[in-house]
Amino acid sequence: MLLSVPVALLFGPVYCGWVCPRGMFQNIIGSMGKRVLGKRYNKLIPKRIHKPLLYFRYGVLLFLLTALVMYEFQLIDDTIMESVVIDGLLLIMVVSILLSFFVDRAACKYFCKEGAAASLTNLVKIRKIKRDDSLCNSCGICDRVCPMWIDVSKKDVVRDTACISCMKCVQKCPVDALRVE
Ligand code: SF4
Ligand code: SF4
Repeated sequence: MLLSVPVALLFGPVYCGWVCPRGMFQNIIGSMGKRVLGKRYNKLIPKRIHKPLLYFRYGVLLFLLTALVMYEFQLIDDTIMESVVIDGLLLIMVVSILLSFFVDRAACKYFCKEGAAASLTNLVKIRKIKRDDSLCNSCGICDRVCPMWIDVSKKDVVRDTACISCMKCVQKCPVDALRVE
């Protein structure tokens, strides 16, 4: 956990892509969803809803921070903190992990408050994923394997806050057009 901060400043939210146990649960539930749903997997949320929905997790983070400040100044008591804030956030997390049966990394994309905070390191990270246009053949594999639905093939540099530094796009590119530089 302590290492995740300097690593994130260097490479982005590596913790989200490689370490987080909730990510692991989503991958397990998602692989079951893929088997059961087949081509219907990842079709529950249309792209036009996906983009604005990406901001919802920042709302969850803001909700928690506001609640913590209010609790500190005794504007809300223990009962509200436990029954509304803690239980509410727990419910959101459980439901969103179950949603990953239908949508790849649904909790990471739309609901995770820690992911929301970590995602901001994408704006300042030192090493970034870059696409070499002279090598790229526009096959679109990188777009299809990205769990966060980033259009990697249309970018020269991946700066999206949605990126969880999983490196699937880099690993799967058949012509090594994607590199971390
Ligand atoms: S996988 Fe590689 S070659 Fe294919 S579109 Fe992405 S960057 Fe280009
Ligand atoms: S596949 Fe590439 S662009 Fe998508 S989240 Fe992983 S590292 Fe980021």
